[in-house]
Amino acid sequence: MTEPTQSHVLKRLYARFTNYLSVTPILVTLSIIAISLVVSILIQRNLESIQSQAVTKQVRENEILIQNTFQMYSQVAWSGAGRMNSGAVDRDTWARFVGTYNFPQNFPAIASMGVTRNLHPDQQQAFIDEMSQIYGQPIQITKGDAANDVNVLAFVAPEKPSSVNNIGFNVYSDAARRNAMIAATDEGKIAMTDQLELIINARQDSTSDGPAFLLYAPYYAQDMPITTPEERRAALLGHVSVAFRTNEVFEQIFSHIDRSHVAMTVSIGKEKRVQEVYKSHATAASGPQIYRTQTMEIYGQPVVINYVFDRNFLVSSSQLHGPLWAFLSGCFVAFLTGTVTFFFLRGRHHRLLLDKEREVNRAKDELLSLASHQLRTPATGVKQYLGMVLQGFAGKTTRVQEELLEKAYKSNERQLHVINDILHLAKLDLGMIVLAKTNFDLGDLIGDVLEEQMEEVKAGQLKVSKKLLKSSPIYGDKHMLRMVIENLLSNAIKYTDPGGSIKVRLTKQGDEYHIAVKDTGVGIASNDMSKLFKQFSRVMNPRSHLVTGTGVGLYLSKHLVQLHHGDIRVESKLDKGSTFTLVLPRVDESL
Ligand code: ADP
Repeated sequence: MTEPTQSHVLKRLYARFTNYLSVTPILVTLSIIAISLVVSILIQRNLESIQSQAVTKQVRENEILIQNTFQMYSQVAWSGAGRMNSGAVDRDTWARFVGTYNFPQNFPAIASMGVTRNLHPDQQQAFIDEMSQIYGQPIQITKGDAANDVNVLAFVAPEKPSSVNNIGFNVYSDAARRNAMIAATDEGKIAMTDQLELIINARQDSTSDGPAFLLYAPYYAQDMPITTPEERRAALLGHVSVAFRTNEVFEQIFSHIDRSHVAMTVSIGKEKRVQEVYKSHATAASGPQIYRTQTMEIYGQPVVINYVFDRNFLVSSSQLHGPLWAFLSGCFVAFLTGTVTFFFLRGRHHRLLLDKEREVNRAKDELLSLASHQLRTPATGVKQYLGMVLQGFAGKTTRVQEELLEKAYKSNERQLHVINDILHLAKLDLGMIVLAKTNFDLGDLIGDVLEEQMEEVKAGQLKVSKKLLKSSPIYGDKHMLRMVIENLLSNAIKYTDPGGSIKVRLTKQGDEYHIAVKDTGVGIASNDMSKLFKQFSRVMNPRSHLVTGTGVGLYLSKHLVQLHHGDIRVESKLDKGSTFTLVLPRVDESL
């Protein structure tokens, strides 16, 4: 099994985090949107229940209004019955009694109030005589029944010119009226007819065109028992009837409520006789609607009211838009939270990635440092022993042996060089390089390094010239600066073809020393310049395959110089040569 490399580990980590980075904010956003959707649905439900409650309240109030109104009307009818019981009534007294109510003013829906008399067959002639005398003209029993009881109209008020034509009309002859009258008689209560037409001339058998209904209140003989229906029938003297103009009754009732946003229809009657008796349109209907049906019984008649309410009118506009606002604000919060989550995670992810990268790099540097350190000791040993053999400590060597030993010595030196570069690189990255600064002369150091590299200069058939300062004191880490100068010089030697020349100049420029190493070598292409100071970056050129290199030298040099607050600058032309200038601040004492 192979260990995952650093880049694999990082790639896997990156993949995991990008996944987590995009999915989590989306999940957070979607969850909040889902929650706000649920909240807005709940608010919507609540709104619907508020609307439904408002409808129920309105309908209930209407019921009370209707019941109170009919209660009042029944009292008018009962008062008529009471008047009949309290003494003799004739045409005038009835007119006066009814006149006290002033219907047009106080009860505009009441058309008239009349009195009927229940007559056994033997009482009918007396009635005709009495009424003919009262009204001053011959009165007959219209639609009468000589063999059975009749219930005939005796007085009506307020009277119209045609009213007398109805006196003597047998009300029992009309089934709707008769049913209500019998129900009133039997139960001793008020009874109501369904909708019918008022009779305007019973003698000519004609009815009015105005839709109406009647309330009947029975009155009985005072000296007879009226506990059971049979006793009531036997004691019945007649009825007081109150005639209403249907439309006006309901107009009056509903005039008390705001009908701008509710439409209503009222139906009265049983089974086949059900009739729509009133209809009102909403004057400003708009939007969705709520339908409601209300059923009640008024004095024996089923009354059904169908309502159509404007749903939106029942609640305030802020309540109406509550669900939408809840949802929109939820979405806003969701996107905000999603974005914040994304940036928070991204920040965290970057931090983690950097930490991980640092950790991996540190492990690599530690390994490199340990390995190169362990390699350097035996390699140094080899160098010492080879040196001793070459110097003749182990006796005379043949020429061939000497040549081979020298080759071994050089290989070992190159090996040590590479090990040292890597060791320094690892230490630099670990921040383990501590400068050991001393005062020394920079020119002397350059001279030394040049001296040491003379052998390579000769091997490369190069000309070297130097121009140093008489005195160039500096305070720095001599060992490290030596490595830097060695590197610049060795590069100039490596990358210059035989016959070329190298110039080393040390100058003072203000507060700085400039050490310029100028060669007439292969040069560097301008687009390769940026790669020079990168770790392990070798730039290929015509001499690269002839010389050894790790691509570490310039990287290391630049950082070592930066530790001295200096810099390395490059000028180069391809095929013409390069100048590497080492810039160091002129410090000759401790900073
Ligand atoms: P190396 O071990 O490859 O020499 P360096 O970091 O010292 O590594 O140099 C990096 C690259 O810079 C080299 O591979 C080479 O291509 C280029 N380079 C450095 N010095 C010179 C020079 N004086 N002339 C031309 N190219 C150079």
